[in-house]
Amino acid sequence: MTEDEAARIKMQFLYALRSKGVTDARILSAMERIDRGAFVRGIFAERAYEDMPLPIACGQTISQPSVVGLMTQALAVGPRDRVLEIGTGSGYQAAVLSLLCRRVYTVDRHRRLVREAQAVFEALHLPNIVAIATDGSRGLPDQAPFDRILVTAAAEDPPGPLLSQLKIGGIMVLPVGQSDTVQSLIRVTRLETGFDYEELRPVRFVPLVEGMASD
Ligand code: SAH
Repeated sequence: MTEDEAARIKMQFLYALRSKGVTDARILSAMERIDRGAFVRGIFAERAYEDMPLPIACGQTISQPSVVGLMTQALAVGPRDRVLEIGTGSGYQAAVLSLLCRRVYTVDRHRRLVREAQAVFEALHLPNIVAIATDGSRGLPDQAPFDRILVTAAAEDPPGPLLSQLKIGGIMVLPVGQSDTVQSLIRVTRLETGFDYEELRPVRFVPLVEGMASD
């Protein structure tokens, strides 16, 4: 691919993000800087700049870029925030978040995905991401509480441990609903007195599965 072609593909990518509602300039610039092609393998790498989910190892998927942008926008991350992501997958979402906040803790139940994502974080020099193989439905109690929590796999309800690991004033964004149907992306804000729930848009994610995977 020539430099001109690469520039044109990136322009189209950013245009697609904007037209789907990703308007925050900081998020667009983070998504311009992180090469999505580094997070997909083989024949799919050449489709990295299409606004589509793509298959990754362990039968999982890297989310559609516009969904990554919209979820990041809904999370309203600040530069001093400590963020927990459940569902490392390819590592792409964590990489985008890492340019916008102080530290990202990202966890996955597949050890292989965590290992492969870690190698990409090192190659791209993203030192503020901590990737851990663990069951994210229990959160990450050792590092709690968090300013922001992003869940990239669908649960039927917001998991209790995640709600309790959110700071007061903190925000969690997650898809909720049955795994084989359309789910709702919701935003939960922790108030002094309880939780505020807001429904954002229909989405489709792989299910949040309890316990570690065998690989
Ligand atoms: N955020 C990813 C896409 C995630 S796909 C990216 O940017 O590429 C959803 C991921 O959630 C899968 O990798 C799956 O293994 C993981 N997952 C499902 N249940 C989980 C659990 N209980 N704990 C941790 N990760 C889980």
